[in-house]
Amino acid sequence: MACTVKRWNKTYGSTWRNVRRHVLDRDQYRCQIAMPGCTVTATQVDHVIPLAFGGSPFDMANLRASCASCNAGRSNKLRRKPSRTW
Ligand SMILES: [Zn+2]
Repeated sequence: MACTVKRWNKTYGSTWRNVRRHVLDRDQYRCQIAMPGCTVTATQVDHVIPLAFGGSPFDMANLRASCASCNAGRSNKLRRKPSRTW
């Protein structure tokens, strides 16, 4: 299977499926967040910088494998308003 990801302009659905797979592959299906309660086995992909904060949706550098537990815990934490520190 070719690993070149050239068709960045395809529909979100198939692009996301591809990127998600690449990220899970890269991180060997192990959760990269490892919060308390982590199940280690990654089934989801987490945005390091959430889209709401201007993160890039399909940038491999902004994505990491995450288990369902960590992903859910993280979004709960991020739900509060961002505080401006500058
Ligand atoms: Zn986890």
